[in-house]
Amino acid sequence: MTTENTDPAKEYQGDGSPQDVLRWALDRFHPRIAVATSLQDTVLIHMAASIRKDVRVFSIDTGRLPEETYACADAVRKTLGIRIEWYFPRHETVQKLETEEGLFSFKKSLEARRTCCFIRKVEPLHRALSGLDAWVTGQRKDENVTRNGLAMIERDSTHGNIVKINPLINWSSEDVHAYIEKHHLPYNRLIDRGYPSIGCACCTRPVEPGEDPRAGRWWWEQPEHKECGLHAGNWSI
Ligand code: SF4
Repeated sequence: MTTENTDPAKEYQGDGSPQDVLRWALDRFHPRIAVATSLQDTVLIHMAASIRKDVRVFSIDTGRLPEETYACADAVRKTLGIRIEWYFPRHETVQKLETEEGLFSFKKSLEARRTCCFIRKVEPLHRALSGLDAWVTGQRKDENVTRNGLAMIERDSTHGNIVKINPLINWSSEDVHAYIEKHHLPYNRLIDRGYPSIGCACCTRPVEPGEDPRAGRWWWEQPEHKECGLHAGNWSI
């Protein structure tokens, strides 16, 4: 049994492919493991559902997602047959934030933006992960300077030291697109309109060719600040 003090990466003896590490993780932790999706693409969901149909998948509805993200979620339900477990921010907290600070408080400062992300994303994520022993994310090293230190299997000290698995860590966006095409998977149509990284509608814009993939997220901030606290952040707890 993996305990809080063991290194889960040492348990895994496979070939390091996304499918292999996912199979190990699902065999090892189901039903106390879930795949997190931001509904940018459905690669991980498809891989996991190919291993076991009853895989748990969750997402966070911040209340400010683009229409295309909801369309992708609907396609996951209809074409992949997966019932997404949704988590929402606490409505009292959102009411207070919007009443006292307005609808665009996140533009005022880095601290204000992080407060909004905490209320709408980080706190719901804590609820989503409570009771789990492991979670699966679609994070990749090529996405941003903030993600260079990722490992495929690691302890998540931000979330109670549960196991965090990043099967696509070494994939490129080209690998993702090739998998989508090969399996005719639904994906977020904003990708076709120059959005390589998709979050809330009001905080995401398309990027120019050659720009950093996450340059369109909180484009008014410095690159090293471009995380919402879901994956890192002493500030976020
Ligand atoms: S991405 Fe923007 S709107 Fe969404 S939670 Fe963060 S600051 Fe708020």
